[in-house]
Amino acid sequence: MLEKVEALDLSKVIDEFEEMTRNAGEVQEKTLKDILEKNKSTFYLQKCGLNGSTDIDDFRAMVPLVTDHDMEPYVKRMVEGDKSPILTGLPVSAISLSSGTTQGRPKFIPFTDVLMENTLQLYRTAFAFRNREFPIGNGKALQFIFSSKQYISEGGVPVGTATTNVYRNPNFKAGIRSIRSMYCSPDEVIFSPDVHQALYCHLLCGILSRDEVQYVFAAFAHSLVHAFRTFEHVWEDIVADIREGVLSSRITVPSVRSAVSKLLRPNPGLANLIRTRCLNLSNWYGLIPALFPNAKYVYGIMTGSMEPYVNKLRHYAGDLPLISHDYGSSEGWIAANVTPRLPPEEAVFAVVPNFGYFEFIPVAQTGEEMPKPVGLTEVKVGEEYEILLTNYAGMYRYRLGDVVKVVGFYNRTPQLKFVCRKNLILSINIDKNTERDLQLSVEAAAKRLSVEKLEVIDFSSHVDVSTEPGHYIIFWEISGGTNKGVLQECCNVLDRSFLDAGYVSSRKTKSIGPLELRVVVKGTFKKIQEHYLGLGASAGQYKTPRCVKLSNKKVLQILCENVASRVFSTAFE
Ligand code: AMP
Repeated sequence: MLEKVEALDLSKVIDEFEEMTRNAGEVQEKTLKDILEKNKSTFYLQKCGLNGSTDIDDFRAMVPLVTDHDMEPYVKRMVEGDKSPILTGLPVSAISLSSGTTQGRPKFIPFTDVLMENTLQLYRTAFAFRNREFPIGNGKALQFIFSSKQYISEGGVPVGTATTNVYRNPNFKAGIRSIRSMYCSPDEVIFSPDVHQALYCHLLCGILSRDEVQYVFAAFAHSLVHAFRTFEHVWEDIVADIREGVLSSRITVPSVRSAVSKLLRPNPGLANLIRTRCLNLSNWYGLIPALFPNAKYVYGIMTGSMEPYVNKLRHYAGDLPLISHDYGSSEGWIAANVTPRLPPEEAVFAVVPNFGYFEFIPVAQTGEEMPKPVGLTEVKVGEEYEILLTNYAGMYRYRLGDVVKVVGFYNRTPQLKFVCRKNLILSINIDKNTERDLQLSVEAAAKRLSVEKLEVIDFSSHVDVSTEPGHYIIFWEISGGTNKGVLQECCNVLDRSFLDAGYVSSRKTKSIGPLELRVVVKGTFKKIQEHYLGLGASAGQYKTPRCVKLSNKKVLQILCENVASRVFSTAFE
């Protein structure tokens, strides 16, 4: 009976999405009008001179395109406790602290109840489509979710990462029960102040419910890989806990200890089974299905800056499908994955037209003036665009900083492929390299490393202009030792794989010096993550900074202090 009700609801969710996307243009107009109506008395829209107008042409003519920098003074006032309608007329229940994506600079963003509703709508939609392809019944899910602490700003406003604000929202629990499968871990684990202890307990609780686990989830592929890498180190302790029915002494947070201990009974049968399964694996290939025999898929963001972790995840997942999680940001959700069968490399996201008003700036060729933004239904298949967000959280024509490619339409809403963050991360003079360029270059060089059966665990970069000429430094953490000859070859491939004409010509004329590859000792990137967690980042939302600026002294120091070997490219000699 229960299943019947669920199936009925899910098909209704799909029908609603179909209807909305068939009328994407109308829904966009209605959404913009509604946003402008609800926020017409805000300081910001008044200042733009909209004067209560909800007309699209007025909006486009009067509201400027902005970046997070432009919004900072307004959000700062909110953090300081100014309750007047600054950016939004809706109550701001909290402020989100975004990861600042991969640039390592956190941003503050207003969090409203509409964002919470959008989150639930998104989860419902994605789940309905996923469940149609991979039905999971009423089982559980092993979800690596971590709610970092909210703190109260001096102005009395709760501040936390977006995921924390979602998990701590009173509507979350009620809303989520009907959508997502039950977690394996008790709430105390999710809200644990210590993320290492939380991770250990998530793994342990997952195994205790192993037969019921229907899928494995973390927001980002990086967290999934990190979880199973950790398992490789702690599995014997987990097996011992299960055998004895006593939780490892490493779990010291009283609430977590008490909640997880209640789930444990001595279970030598399960302990032996897990032990045998682990010992029978070759290099941990297929670990996830070995632990969770009824799992149907592995779920998380696997696109964009998460691509470098997909191979490792596939290794752990064996034959299980990898399903890409949807596309959004702390500022607001954008698009849902309604085609879950596509592998991560081909994943596309259908824009959800009632989440906000979306505009798209065609990506300009070098030297061209910035083209005018176009509306959701005006985009062209095959073109790349930068996304502009206008939503209920007080973002108006906000440049999110992401570049997407329109690969088709789902009904009348565009289907996007995530391309990259727009910001240049590596640039000395006329060279222009984005995070994506760095990623491709690392991918190419990692192929040489894989011949030695080694992999790049994580990477970052830095522009060093302290010497003349300046040069790029790439930091690598790799899975084992290798000789200088191999590193030299990798370094040359890295250098040659930046195909940007500015870079290549500057290297040839020696106005950019030879690229330097610095291999850091194992655990260095974990130290960087811990540094960010200490600053309030959430373990679930963490992204490795792909370029470390001079101003990010601490992270640069961690990288530089842990260098095990370094080579300079000889590629352009
Ligand atoms: P945050 O600022 O921590 O909320 O991160 C938001 C950013 O993460 C987005 O602007 C994207 O750059 C990236 N992101 C989110 N979802 C995806 C996705 N499905 N694929 C690729 N990148 C994503």
